[in-house]
Amino acid sequence: MSTTTEVGSNGGTDYDAIVIGAGFSGLAILHHLREIGLKTLVIDGEDGIGGTWWVNRYPGVRTDSEYSYYSFSFSKEVRDEWTWSERYPAGPEVLRYLNFVADRLDLRKDIRLNTRVESAVYDESENVWRVNILGGGTLTAKYLVSGMGVLSQAIYPSIPGIDSFKGQKYHTAHWPRGGADLKGKRVGLIGLGASGIQVVPTIAPEVDEFFVFQRTPNFIVETTNDRVSASEMQHVREHYDEIFEKAANHPFGVAMDFAENSALDVTPEERERIFESKWNEGGFHFANECFNDLATNHESSELASEFIRTKIREIVHDPTTAELLCPTSYSFNGKRVPTGHGYYETFNLEHVHLIDVASTPITEITENGVTVGGTEYELDVLIFATGFDAMTGTLTNIDIVGRNGMTLRDKWTEQGLRSNLGISAHGFPNFFMSLGPQTPYSNLPVPIQLGAQWLQRALKWAKDNGVERLEATPESEAAWAAEVERAGKATVMYSEGHKAKAWFLGENVPGKPQEFIVYMGGGQVYQQFCREAEESGYGSFLTDVLAPAKAVGV
Ligand SMILES: Cc1cc2nc3c(=O)[nH]c(=O)nc-3n(C[C@H](O)[C@H](O)[C@H](O)COP(=O)(O)OP(=O)(O)OC[C@H]3O[C@@H](n4cnc5c(N)ncnc54)[C@H](O)[C@@H]3O)c2cc1C
Repeated sequence: MSTTTEVGSNGGTDYDAIVIGAGFSGLAILHHLREIGLKTLVIDGEDGIGGTWWVNRYPGVRTDSEYSYYSFSFSKEVRDEWTWSERYPAGPEVLRYLNFVADRLDLRKDIRLNTRVESAVYDESENVWRVNILGGGTLTAKYLVSGMGVLSQAIYPSIPGIDSFKGQKYHTAHWPRGGADLKGKRVGLIGLGASGIQVVPTIAPEVDEFFVFQRTPNFIVETTNDRVSASEMQHVREHYDEIFEKAANHPFGVAMDFAENSALDVTPEERERIFESKWNEGGFHFANECFNDLATNHESSELASEFIRTKIREIVHDPTTAELLCPTSYSFNGKRVPTGHGYYETFNLEHVHLIDVASTPITEITENGVTVGGTEYELDVLIFATGFDAMTGTLTNIDIVGRNGMTLRDKWTEQGLRSNLGISAHGFPNFFMSLGPQTPYSNLPVPIQLGAQWLQRALKWAKDNGVERLEATPESEAAWAAEVERAGKATVMYSEGHKAKAWFLGENVPGKPQEFIVYMGGGQVYQQFCREAEESGYGSFLTDVLAPAKAVGV
């Protein structure tokens, strides 16, 4: 942990730094900017802290990451005093953790809730960001930081008649506070990404009839959710630094061993044994610890695909349903791999019906239910688990206006996604993003914490060197875009003829440009790029708009 160094003076502005978003990102950034003496305010449009874990209250909501690495390592107090109860913590437990972090680090006094940002405008003459609040009021700061979330801008499908349904309609990301009464109801669900997959087994036992409308099946890595014992928790506490280090050195930010062999390097018997043992360990262990090329080599990924298809056929009794649940148009890792908690087994329940809307798409939503071809499925409740405008949605949903009146939205529409390391964009001085587009696909608390610490050092360095503005250079953006594309094209997500419709490529949002919105080159490789930027004196972040070095307050 770095020592506190006073660098803030916030000459003339309300704050040195305004951070939008009070989730994992906002909390980590507030803590780290405070440590260097920056007067920092976190604002959030919601009425509670926690971001993702405040709004996602649907039945079954929990992490796909395991508790030991889905947390911060930077506070010894938090590490020593917090106790996780489940291997994959449920949403309410993660929310309690984030509230505990806020209280233990005394962050609450610098968090303003119920404060939605409508726009943020950079004033070049004053080198200040003016942050306009919905409903009135403007706050100013030298630095503006987005912690607005990668999976935070919920989307609905564009199905004719969607507003006409007379029953109860819920989006998983806007689940009612008091819960929803599903007992004895006829329920339909649209959307089978990570959220839908958690909803299905959780609500199936209580509903009367359940219609699951499936367009694209996923490869789901089933797991068990064990209680965390006191001794396991103590072990994690005592080894937190090693665990975090391991996760930081892993391509996907998980504290797991990185497999050394290709799936093609071993005999079929050995391959089967490894697949089986990692399948039994559950969740991301299968994806990460079997072989080193399940995300990059189509043949290897297809071997893993076939292993999972066999599992599906073993678990699901009805052969037609089992075949429908087997992905065939793409291979394992072609889409984000969700963790399952009895998902496949749910389809053995007689009142759970899998409706294939790939061969016959949903025609319309009526006032009574959902029509597929000539069949109307009458429903009392319709659940949308249709996900998010990922990575860029929150950033382009509001006007973030940089130099010469250009919005971030217009920049990315005109130029394609452009950023330096997903942290900074040319034309937007002193604007920084936590988990901006083109940052790694990963277990996220790891890049969030490392990003907050990188920003802390960068702003401290700026002060120490009299640098008034930090901003990506166009050259750095072009280089990073090329690296993001290179890394993305090296994965099975992109293999010709097997390309899955994945939110990684913006394909879940009609009209969104199809480009890699995450960096697939590995979290540890990304961190090396960040270190190089820092060690080179932030060369890729400086531009000709920098004031000459002189003693200036932050
Ligand atoms: C159901 C679910 C399960 C997940 N499970 C995992 C997992 O297992 N592992 C993993 O690594 N990741 C997981 N994620 C991703 C998760 O989003 C991140 O792990 C993490 O919580 C992101 O934190 P954040 O602070 O960056 O963003 P968020 O938690 O999304 O917080 C963003 C905040 O910004 C606020 N905001 C946005 N726009 C504005 C605005 N204009 N004005 C004011 N406030 C604004 C929002 O209100 C929100 O509170 C999951 C996501 C979901 C939805």
